[in-house]
Amino acid sequence: MHRIVIVGGGAGGLELATRLSNRFGLRKRQGERNVCVTLVDRHPAHVWKPLLHKVAAGSMSPASHELSYAAQARWHGFDFHQGELVGLSRSSKQVMLGAVHDDQGVELLPQRALDYDTLVVAIGSTTQYFGVEGAASHAIALDSVAQAERFRRRFIEACRRAGGARGSENGALAPRMQVVIVGAGATGVELSAELRDAACELSQYGLHDLDPTHDVGIVVIEAGPRILPALPERVARATVERLGQLGVTLMVGESVAQVLPGCVLTRSGQRIRADLTVWSAGVTAPPVLSLLDGLNVNRRGQLVVRDTLQSETDDDVFALGDCAACEWPGKSGGVPPRAQAAHQQAAFMVEALTCRVEGKTLPQFKYRDFGSLVSLSRFGAVGNLVAGSGEGMYVAGWVARGLYASLERMHVAALYGIRRMAIDTLANRLRRSTSPRIKLH
Ligand SMILES: Cc1cc2nc3c(=O)[nH]c(=O)nc-3n(C[C@H](O)[C@H](O)[C@H](O)COP(=O)(O)OP(=O)(O)OC[C@H]3O[C@@H](n4cnc5c(N)ncnc54)[C@H](O)[C@@H]3O)c2cc1C
Repeated sequence: MHRIVIVGGGAGGLELATRLSNRFGLRKRQGERNVCVTLVDRHPAHVWKPLLHKVAAGSMSPASHELSYAAQARWHGFDFHQGELVGLSRSSKQVMLGAVHDDQGVELLPQRALDYDTLVVAIGSTTQYFGVEGAASHAIALDSVAQAERFRRRFIEACRRAGGARGSENGALAPRMQVVIVGAGATGVELSAELRDAACELSQYGLHDLDPTHDVGIVVIEAGPRILPALPERVARATVERLGQLGVTLMVGESVAQVLPGCVLTRSGQRIRADLTVWSAGVTAPPVLSLLDGLNVNRRGQLVVRDTLQSETDDDVFALGDCAACEWPGKSGGVPPRAQAAHQQAAFMVEALTCRVEGKTLPQFKYRDFGSLVSLSRFGAVGNLVAGSGEGMYVAGWVARGLYASLERMHVAALYGIRRMAIDTLANRLRRSTSPRIKLH
């Protein structure tokens, strides 16, 4: 029996566990199987991370998009263990999982060790605060559903509070409440458009009596010379224009020096009102990766892997997704931390692990960039599509919106199969026709 343990059930890890189980027929071949697949995650359910800004704005309910790991495990024949990766012993080939506690801190599951023959680390990334004072304590990051939900509740509360305090603020032109988003990458930009939509929608349902455009300030601060630094300039220009129409204030070339309750201080000395601050200025590797029994990590703390996605240090350990430092020949910085990279690596890993189990030579991973899309809520989408080695083609309007929506549907199809994905799409449409577009409580 070859034991494959996958730690991290995110965009890459859950697709891998599902596809591997399908490949080896684990659901059908009870008793006569020669492979067993175990998935580990610190949470009990999966939500695709690129949707978290929608959860934060309330335009997507996690309840209708989450997938229970236990259910997926049962349907596909793999095992699921809830727990957080806290250590590794390469000599005894064991991963250590921390104890699981309930809301009151009572232990539900003790600390455990799991044996593996092949280990795949897919624990993603975490928010990078760059040592900015007050950022970790006073700004909200979007790393998990819990954080996104916390932000959503606070946004509604801040709108309601500001509506009640109407007229008490100085200056008739100043917004009554203001959200500051630090970082104008895709997450920050997409969130700003979603929040403008949410402010309008909440006003229509009477949850606040603010003017949703003028009284709700949305400021995006970017340290670099332009927004969307990872995307082509044309996409950034189109986005700037659209955000301007939505009344989103962009401050580029401005670094945040400190985050305080109620305001943000910039390095140029500006004090910006912030009833809520969101930190989306970058990601870094989870610190636990540096504690994994001497596995090589790079400057950013990611596990360094070869083109087979095996750790540079240990042939039995693989890594994929945001937590892996994988070279992208001809490009500096390696394969980017994106869902499409995690998806491609998961598909590759199914082939690689099949070869490994069958004792064949492992293939080599080659990342292919298909471009990027930025969704501006119901106000549109822009992006560029790459086919081959060219610069890519600019897309906007309904084409970009359709393509953006299809990315999430592709992930759902990888987990559910095409037929169930179609049913899920229909169910979501029906649900949307009987409930408000924005979660109101
Ligand atoms: C708001 C937002 C919007 C984004 N939009 C896009 C987009 O439009 N397009 C795009 O390509 N990318 C986007 N991204 C990036 C994309 O989400 C990531 O690149 C992708 O999810 C990485 O996949 P992964 O499998 O490596 O990690 P993840 O999907 O982050 O999954 C990691 C999993 O590991 C689990 N985990 C973490 N630590 C531990 C531990 N110690 N022990 C056990 N389990 C652990 C987590 O619970 C999680 O389930 C976005 C990210 C965010 C936050």
